[in-house]
Amino acid sequence: MSTPKLFSPGPVDVSKETFAAMCHPMIGHRGSDFEVLYASLQPGLQEIFGTARPVFLSTSSAWGVMEGALRNLARKKVLCLCCGAFSDKWLDVAKKCGFEADSVQVAWGEEISPEAVHAKLAEGGFDTVTLIHSETSTGVLNDLAGISKVVKSFPDTMLIVDTVSSLSTVPVDMDANCIDVMLAGVQKALALPPGLAVFAVSAAGMERAKGTANRGYYFDFIEFAKNAAVNNTPSTPAISLLYGLQQILGEIAKEGFGPRQQRHAKTNAMIATWGAKHGFEMFAPAGRRSSALTCFKTPDGFDLSAFIKNLKNQYGFLINGGYGKIKGSTFRISNMGNETEATMQELIDAMDTLLG
Ligand SMILES: *Cc1c(COP(=O)(O)O)cnc(C)c1O
Repeated sequence: MSTPKLFSPGPVDVSKETFAAMCHPMIGHRGSDFEVLYASLQPGLQEIFGTARPVFLSTSSAWGVMEGALRNLARKKVLCLCCGAFSDKWLDVAKKCGFEADSVQVAWGEEISPEAVHAKLAEGGFDTVTLIHSETSTGVLNDLAGISKVVKSFPDTMLIVDTVSSLSTVPVDMDANCIDVMLAGVQKALALPPGLAVFAVSAAGMERAKGTANRGYYFDFIEFAKNAAVNNTPSTPAISLLYGLQQILGEIAKEGFGPRQQRHAKTNAMIATWGAKHGFEMFAPAGRRSSALTCFKTPDGFDLSAFIKNLKNQYGFLINGGYGKIKGSTFRISNMGNETEATMQELIDAMDTLLG
């Protein structure tokens, strides 16, 4: 059996062109070729981040920066906005790092309301807030503008935002939303192999980091900034992935950021229409759904594991059978990365045939 094509929400299918770009001969990272490569990535990354700040490159998965951001910015008490597997885990990570941590917790499948964030922050004492924009486990897209406005109304409160499955699919507007750290892993919306995270830090975030003790080394924001000033990274980066990133950013520039977002909206709507036709209910509320993936409730009596297995064995397409505590009771389909109306139609045709 050949390897199935991934329609599961991360990692996603990687194009031949991206793999080919990654086969570039190796270069040393302390030389001018590397500086040119590093600099070439900045405009494209800054566009999709919506920032004028430098975008740093971390050789780690997203969790490295998610933990690192806390270690750089949090002082004492962290508020984690929890609405699914990834955002709930961030609360655990904050506690494991030794911070006092509390949450605004909603049921999985619901979004975080800005009012609830306001009420919790008004209790006082929080210096840092974590938010996942697109909660990949539930398909919910949180109200980034509304929540960031609330957080910024509390002075000296830092906002860390995970955009792993939203970056480049919708505007995230880091600067306009006054976000202090924005981060993403590259194996989801950016359709690269795993192993690299991209992030940017506001001027206020850098000031906060400077005064934070025990930032460590690998994720020290000050080290990243010092090296970024000379188009470099603190330690040896995943150079092959950077060539892949350069290729993807080239594709985004060619397609246009706006058309890329429209493509995601269209392909996402195709899956919504397919689900409605078969009576599959959405797990996320209308108006707050990610346009990068869809999470459906598994209907009673529907043999989800047979459906997923047959789709994989007969058609070579892999979708996902739910994540965390909603494994089995939900399933997810990704339209992230390079998927087009044509490739989504192939998946839909296969699923339709299986459902009869
Ligand atoms: C996948 C995912 C992560 C975790 O990414 P890793 O690359 O496994 O560290 C974090 N946040 C969100 C929203 C994700 O979808």
